[in-house]
Amino acid sequence: MNFIITSPLYYVNDKPHLGSVYTTIICDSIARYKRLREENVLFITGVDEHGLKIQRTAINNGISPKEHCDEVSDIFKKNWTKWNISFNKFIRTTSQEHKKVVYEFYEKVKESNDIYMGTQKGWYCVGCEEFKDNPDNSPSRQCPIHKKNLEWKNESNLFFRLSKYQKDIEELIKNPDFIEPKERRNEIINFVSKGLKDFSISRTNLDWGIRVPDHLNHTFYVWFDALLGYVSAISSTDNNCSLDLSIESGWPANLHIIGKDILRFHAIYWPAMLISAGMKPPKKILGHGFLTREGQKMGKSLGNVLDPEILLNKYGEEAVRWYLLKDISIGSDGDFQDRRFVDIINNDLANTIGNLLNRTISMSRKWFNNQTPSISEKINNEIITLANNSIKNYLIYFDNYKLDKASNEILNFATNVNLYLNKKEPWSLIKDDKNINEVKLIIYNVLESTRIIGTLMQPILPEFSNKILYQLGAQNIEKRDWEKRLNWGLLPESNDLPTPIPIISKLDYE
Ligand SMILES: [Zn+2]
Repeated sequence: MNFIITSPLYYVNDKPHLGSVYTTIICDSIARYKRLREENVLFITGVDEHGLKIQRTAINNGISPKEHCDEVSDIFKKNWTKWNISFNKFIRTTSQEHKKVVYEFYEKVKESNDIYMGTQKGWYCVGCEEFKDNPDNSPSRQCPIHKKNLEWKNESNLFFRLSKYQKDIEELIKNPDFIEPKERRNEIINFVSKGLKDFSISRTNLDWGIRVPDHLNHTFYVWFDALLGYVSAISSTDNNCSLDLSIESGWPANLHIIGKDILRFHAIYWPAMLISAGMKPPKKILGHGFLTREGQKMGKSLGNVLDPEILLNKYGEEAVRWYLLKDISIGSDGDFQDRRFVDIINNDLANTIGNLLNRTISMSRKWFNNQTPSISEKINNEIITLANNSIKNYLIYFDNYKLDKASNEILNFATNVNLYLNKKEPWSLIKDDKNINEVKLIIYNVLESTRIIGTLMQPILPEFSNKILYQLGAQNIEKRDWEKRLNWGLLPESNDLPTPIPIISKLDYE
């Protein structure tokens, strides 16, 4: 089956911030999971490259907008490689294929009689690239987000007849699966119930954008440009692209993952635009929360912005991944705390999982000739029941995109295995020869449990997972299909175990 998953197309006025890294890591983990579940995944990411803010940033830096976009797009792409992001397609909205799709889409919407010329007056924030409905009454009229003065604009724009799609959108959001999580869905239901208003889709006096073909002094505004990137990303082959091709290639997208700040555009504007063009709306929108730092909002003016590249270089991508995926429930806001970060990595990955693996391999090597033990019977209901329950819960959580709960399920299992090992005390039992079969069984059970843990870790921490399986000499098992690898008892007996090395190093406080 095809599974199309997208991250937002990130705005290239700056390099990736922690929020974009967070969204992209969520996408990556889900994409990896779906691939393991034998789905044919198309994971789309990319960049939104047009707009006044980019034009001005480029001019301030003394380069052309095109040069600016080439540079920053490249930074995004290279960053995703550093973060081990398994995207299949990276779309740029300055590409020719995208422009062609925008034109074709615009024509379809026009044929539905959904485009008209209107006037737009109001206070405009260049930072947000949007009109502010209720600016404050101070003389400067500042944007509450950017703390910059708003600009008065009075211009003729092309509008999209969103109001015509009131019923369609109401119908769409009735489906509880369309928007998640629930709180986000309620916000949208509430907004839609107040009545949808048409919105402008073009700007004048803006050069850096795609020109509207029949109004050459207009360029398309962000939603009629960037959102279409999802479609152009899947509609292109080497020398062709079209809306039909995108439908042939599997449109609609199964899952758009976004920050909650752009939910309205994805859950209302975008489906209405697609219906107008005769296309299907996406199947699901998942809106995650914002990240704060030590309980405070991050912002340039506050000087507390956490640079993801510094985190990456200092801790490695998987430590950051574990914190973001395990500690924050998708949909809720998350807080990045240095001390908590170090504690979580040390407790979960280095102690609970890493140390369990390390010490058990050491015992097995010492007592059983550098190998996994051979056992007379593999039946041990206590530990198998624990494993199977955790696997069952993990799959349900992952299928419902509860990545934090899935991660915690692995951790709970590892904690229980530690308890089992400590309760059984094989290091005491081994002192008496008559206990040898029992010791073999205990060690096998723990090693096999760590193999299950390594397998479950695959979509969450791919490198960490590889290291676990390598340490167990369980790479050959890796070739079977993933769900079958979760069956108990696959770790070979009397199998060589490599010298154990710590699979993750402990972190220090600053
Ligand atoms: Zn603003």
